[in-house]
This record gives sequence, structure tokens and C-alpha cells, in this order.
Amino acid sequence: MFTIGCHLSASDGFLAMAKTALAVGGNTFQYFSRNPRGSRARPLDTEDIDKYVSFAAENGIKTVLCHAPYTMNACSSDPGLRDLAKQMMAEDFSRLSYIPGAMYNFHPGSHTGQGTEKGIEEIADLLNNVLTEDIKTPVLLETMAGKGSEVGGRFEEIAEIIKKTELSEKLGVCLDTCHINDGGYDIVSDLDGVLYEFDRIIGLDKLYAVHLNDSMNPVGAHKDRHQKIGEGTLGIDTVKKVINHKKLRDLPFFLETPNELDGYAKEIAILKTLRNEE
Ligand code: FE
Ligand code: FE
Ligand code: ZN
Repeated sequence: MFTIGCHLSASDGFLAMAKTALAVGGNTFQYFSRNPRGSRARPLDTEDIDKYVSFAAENGIKTVLCHAPYTMNACSSDPGLRDLAKQMMAEDFSRLSYIPGAMYNFHPGSHTGQGTEKGIEEIADLLNNVLTEDIKTPVLLETMAGKGSEVGGRFEEIAEIIKKTELSEKLGVCLDTCHINDGGYDIVSDLDGVLYEFDRIIGLDKLYAVHLNDSMNPVGAHKDRHQKIGEGTLGIDTVKKVINHKKLRDLPFFLETPNELDGYAKEIAILKTLRNEE
């Protein structure tokens, strides 16, 4: 089954997001756990969640992806910000326990001058603090473009974080096609080779989701500027290969392209025509 959706605004609640996901032709969606700029989460609306749970079950929404705010930084040189990241993550996990099939995605962080090794240690430290046996929600590390002091631009860095995390069975990876292109992984000319590298270094069994974005920049640019599907340096042929690849096709795909809802609907319709159903 083709699991496809896009990033949606969480402001009207879960039931509204599920309805919008279907309206744009999808069967999943991504949303921010809280406002990307602020740190406060909106109060849990249990009535909305109850309605959402039955609506999702009736309409074939089996998984959703909750994205941590961009500002959350598990490896800031500022201990106060690291502590805030820990609090946010713990709170997000407890809220996600009410959402069946949810996964949690976060940017590993930016080491803000401390160096990649230190950054990796702090991210693993934080995970070792907040991950507990009872957490059922898979926690995904997103592959990054390697912009500035970002950690997670190399598969090796993601693998190190997983290795240093005690409850590593709770962790997975979300592969962002724009980010890995910008990070230097050439999926345009060698998708098989990049996936081979991913498997060798991290293991494809850890790959749980794909952020499907085109990129405004050439491979290795370390920029992180998303482009609409087929309008960037990846192009429609690469996108077609990604959504049909035997190692990727059963994963959920999430669009984070620069679009309003009508643009997302168009992209999802195009992707469905590009998908080879077996
Ligand atoms: Fe992201
Ligand atoms: Fe992404
Ligand atoms: Zn991005």
C-alpha cells in the first residue's frame, strides 16, 4: 500500500488534520508537536482525540508523524536549552501515547560550536534520560543537510547516536530526500548506492519513514531549502525511483514541500500516477 501524506497545521486538532489529510488525497499526515517558535504545547483535547481515533480507524489512517519543533536542540552548548529539549521531548512522548500508530521525529540538533563528537554524546545523553521502557512511540532521528553545526548530516553520526543510546530499539530514522541530497548523498545518479551505504552504516531495518522533498540546491550544498516535487535538483525521475524502490516503497512518505493545501493535493495526485502498484 502507498502511504502518502503531507505536513499539516495542528491548530484545529487531530480530527481536523485527519479530514484534511483525506481531502488532499493522503492517508497519513505530519504535524508539529507544538509551535516551532514557542515551546508550549496546546492542551490535550481528549474529546478530539477520541473522535480522531475512530475516524482514523474507519478511514485507513494507520500511522502519523509528529515532528518536534525546529528550535528544540538536544546538543546546544547552553545547558538550559538542552534541559528545555529534554522537557519538551518527555512531554511530547507522554502526549503521543494517546495517538495510535504515531511516530515522533526530531532533528538531532546543532552542536553550536562544541564539535560533532560532543554533540552526538549530548543527544545520546538526552535520549538516555527521556527514553523509558514504557514508551511505545518509535522515536526517529531525521537525516540532516549538514548545514552549519548540524549533527546528523552523515549516516555515521546517526549510527553513533543510536549506538550510544541504551534503549536503541526505540529509535528509528526518517530519511529526508532534500536533506541527504544537500548532505552529499547522490540519489539522482545512485539511489541504490546511497541505500547500500545507509544499510551498511545504520541498517535499513532502522528506516521507518521518508520526508519526500525536492531540493533547490545541488548535491553536497549543505543548504536545506526544500523545493516542490519535480521542480528541483532531484527531479521527477528520482522521486519516481524513490517512491517505487523495493527498499522504500512500504514506508510512509511525507511531503514537506513549499505548498498550500491545493499544491499538496496536486503533488499527491501526481505521486499516485507515478507509483507502480504491484
Ligand atoms: Fe524536519
Ligand atoms: Fe524533513
Ligand atoms: Zn529541511
